[in-house]
Formats: sequence, structure tokens, C-alpha cells
Amino acid sequence: MLQIDGSIGEGGGQILRTALSLSLLTGKPFCLSNIRAGRKKSGLMRQHLVCVQAAKAVGHAVVSGDELHSTTLTFEPQTVQAGHYHFSIGSAGSTMLVLQTLLPVLMMQSQPSTLKIEGGTHNPMAPTFDFVQRCFLPAVAKLGIKADVVCKQSGFFPVGGGIIEVDIQPWMDRKAHVLLERGEIRAVNAYAGSLNLDTHIAERELATLANILTLGQQHHVPLSGQGQGNTAFVEVVSEHHTEVFTALGEMGRTAEQIAKHLANQVKRYLHATDAVDEHLADQLLLPLALGKGGEFSCRSISEHTRTQAGMIEMFLPVSVRLIEGDERFSSFIQVVA
Ligand code: ATP
Repeated sequence: MLQIDGSIGEGGGQILRTALSLSLLTGKPFCLSNIRAGRKKSGLMRQHLVCVQAAKAVGHAVVSGDELHSTTLTFEPQTVQAGHYHFSIGSAGSTMLVLQTLLPVLMMQSQPSTLKIEGGTHNPMAPTFDFVQRCFLPAVAKLGIKADVVCKQSGFFPVGGGIIEVDIQPWMDRKAHVLLERGEIRAVNAYAGSLNLDTHIAERELATLANILTLGQQHHVPLSGQGQGNTAFVEVVSEHHTEVFTALGEMGRTAEQIAKHLANQVKRYLHATDAVDEHLADQLLLPLALGKGGEFSCRSISEHTRTQAGMIEMFLPVSVRLIEGDERFSSFIQVVA
């Protein structure tokens, strides 16, 4: 059994999710201690527990320590089965992070799968539905991965109640991927929407984004669901890549402040030459490692990315090279599979 110390690197939930995915894919059992020791509230939170339960169901795993706040988990997978699965987080925990755990596993099966996941669709410190749909899935589609996600209802903290449905096809045609140059910027599009809040909020966000950035299209996104929430996002469409930057409305911060912060993230990307921004960088490592490898340029190598690289190398016979950049790119990541 692999012994994994959950306090290594960033000491967050990614160590758990990657261990679950790769244990299911390699058949290697693991014992994870010090779960999320790097976080203020350590141990398994509701969202992490649902990742464990979902992985257990998909891989008929024998598990101990799968309780709320648990800091040690043992996980012994048996047979992974493609199929139709439904998981409910029972809080506003991120549906996207449950998907992050299961997608690598289900896309490697020879039969298609569908997932219905209930919880949060727009969470801080996690990919939002829009990021996954418009940035992550199109990026991995270039490796040959076929998955579609739809948002049936949006869910925000603290009520949740979001519903996503995912269709995952077997990964037949595995391609290596090189993404160094983003190419010419074709469009910068802005989107904003509010759930059960004054529509004026989204309008003010779009107006602020339009004041700071040279926008192509502007869209008011209709959101439906329980609870309340607000999100704005900007899509930068380049010749070889589409990057998405997201923001969520917060109590005590004006629509203008939210949009300005978002616009600054976009400006930083536009002023650089790298293809991939910080968050997509850590999310691309596993698909590249499971496929034929590849390389990409990215704005920075986060602690999160370093931790993810270490986890992948622990389970798979691959090498993840994190290379500080030169005068052209800030950083490069090479995955040699
Ligand atoms: P913890 O619960 O331990 O705080 P976690 O399980 O919620 O952590 P992290 O370990 O922090 O999650 O991982 C969060 C994931 O969400 C990473 O893959 C990261 O790239 C992604 N992520 C965070 N913020 C964004 C964002 N703004 N856009 C896209 N993806 C994001």
C-alpha cells in the first residue's frame, strides 16, 4: 500500500483527489495521512468526502476513514466500472472537483459514462462550471478527450442546489499536445450573470469590464437555481488556445470591485506571452500524463502544480518537468509519458 503524507507541498484537497483518481486507474491501494493538513480546517470536508464516496462507488473500493473530518484514509480499489452515476454533495461543495476526481478514471474506460452531480457549480478556489466548459474541456479535447458538461441549475455558497450533467466518452485517440505559442488574440469576451439577485449587478460588471478591456462580445448569462449568487467571467480566445478567468460576487464587495479584479487578471495574461494561465496548468498535468505527454508554456508554476506533479510521479511511470522560463515564456511544463 502506498503511504502518502497529505501535508506535503500545498497540503490541500488536490492530493486526495489525485490519489483517488490514480489509485482507481493503476489499481494501487493507498493510505493517506494528515489529510489537508495545510488548510485551516484540516481533514475531510463534505466535498472531499463525496469525492471519496464517488471514487468508492466507481471502483468498488474497500475504504476506511471515510468520515467527515477524518485525517486518515485507506483506499483499496477493486474493479472500475463505467456507467451512469448520481452523486449529491448535500452542501454547496464543488461539483467540479468531484468531476475532477472522476473524469480521468471514466474517460479511460472502454464504455461511455454519464454523471449527475448536485452541489455548488460556482465555488471560490475551484474551477467554475464556465471554466470547465469553456476552458478545461476544450483544452483536453485537443488531446482527444471527449466529454461534455451541462449546467441544469447553478449552485452558489451557502445554499448549493446546483446540478450538472456530464457525458464522458472512452478516450480512443490519444494525442500528444504541444502548446507553447498561444498565437494571435482573436477575441476577449465578457459574461456576467446573477442568480435570484438584481440583474443590475451583472450589467455593472459588464460595464466595468468594458471600461478596462477592449471587449468583443458581452453577454448577460441567465442563471437559474436555488439560493443567490453572481459570477462574471472573461474568455480570451487566441489562435491556439482559449483561457477563461472567473470571478464570484462577494458580500461587502461592489460589482465594480469584482469586475476590476477580474479585468486585472485578464490584463496580466494579455501582457504576457504564455499560453496557459496558473489554474489550467495544474489541471492539464494529469490528462497529459495519462495520454501521450506534451508540453505547454504557462504564466507561473504554483505550489499546487508542484504538488500535483509529485502525486502523478508517485503513481505513474512518467516524468513531469517544471522549467523556469526564458525571455520568451515565464515557465514551461513538459510531461514525458
Ligand atoms: P482545500 O479544500 O484543501 O482548500 P480544495 O480541495 O478545495 O482544497 P485545492 O486543492 O485548492 O482544492 O484545488 C483547487 C482546484 O481548483 C485546482 O485544480 C485549481 O487549479 C482549481 N482552481 C482554483 N481556483 C480556480 C480558478 N479561479 N479558475 C479555475 N480553476 C481554479
